[in-house]
Amino acid sequence: MGKRRLIKMLKITPYLGILVLIVSIGGLWYPVLGYFMLLVFAAIFLISPFRGRWFCGNLCPRGSLADFWIGKISKKRKIPAILRSLWVRLPIFFLMMGIMGYRISSVIGTLNTFEKIGMIFVTICLVTTTIAVLLGSYLSPRTWCSFCPMGTAQNLLGGKRYQLKLEKDKCISCKKCEKVCPMQLKVCQTETKPDCIKCGRCVSACPKDALHF
Ligand code: SF4
Ligand code: SF4
Ligand code: SF4
Repeated sequence: MGKRRLIKMLKITPYLGILVLIVSIGGLWYPVLGYFMLLVFAAIFLISPFRGRWFCGNLCPRGSLADFWIGKISKKRKIPAILRSLWVRLPIFFLMMGIMGYRISSVIGTLNTFEKIGMIFVTICLVTTTIAVLLGSYLSPRTWCSFCPMGTAQNLLGGKRYQLKLEKDKCISCKKCEKVCPMQLKVCQTETKPDCIKCGRCVSACPKDALHF
């Protein structure tokens, strides 16, 4: 199978988002579903050193939920710049990792450890999805993705990898690329974009073929 065809097959679809609902709601009855989060963690740590936040724009079930489902009810407002700041993101990252680590360590060695750890993952998924839905509907669909701990981890691990390139001489500053960017990035500036999720929407929207990876 060709590399292009494989990447096309992996492209984010509306159906991926349903996985989030299965884990966060179904997991309340079947905690084993929470272990799906481990697959997400593994994919993130395998992909990001080479492709930055590619996972967010192409494979993440919650990203799909944001784009295709929350997007339908979102007010599509501006994402506050403060949420992208590492001063906000790093404390959230360490807080979430700390809570998860503490809760897992407190159930190890007790009865039904496997189910209890699964339920911890389910709870994290449910809480973060609820925040993502609330922020996404009030502000912009991908608001959560501006400070999601897994997005921050990818930004730090490979934010400079697989950068979007702009051919300045072709650009006519129409800003069509910025209108479609789900992360509300300054697409037509040449600066590095560690929070670009490589969704390719700007590339497709550009009438001058000035953007590419
Ligand atoms: S930022 Fe988090 S929720 Fe958003 S697409 Fe990336 S991993 Fe998924
Ligand atoms: S859509 Fe293309 S031509 Fe328009 S501003 Fe963006 S890069 Fe430039
Ligand atoms: S800059 Fe382009 S590829 Fe990156 S997130 Fe925005 S629209 Fe997607």
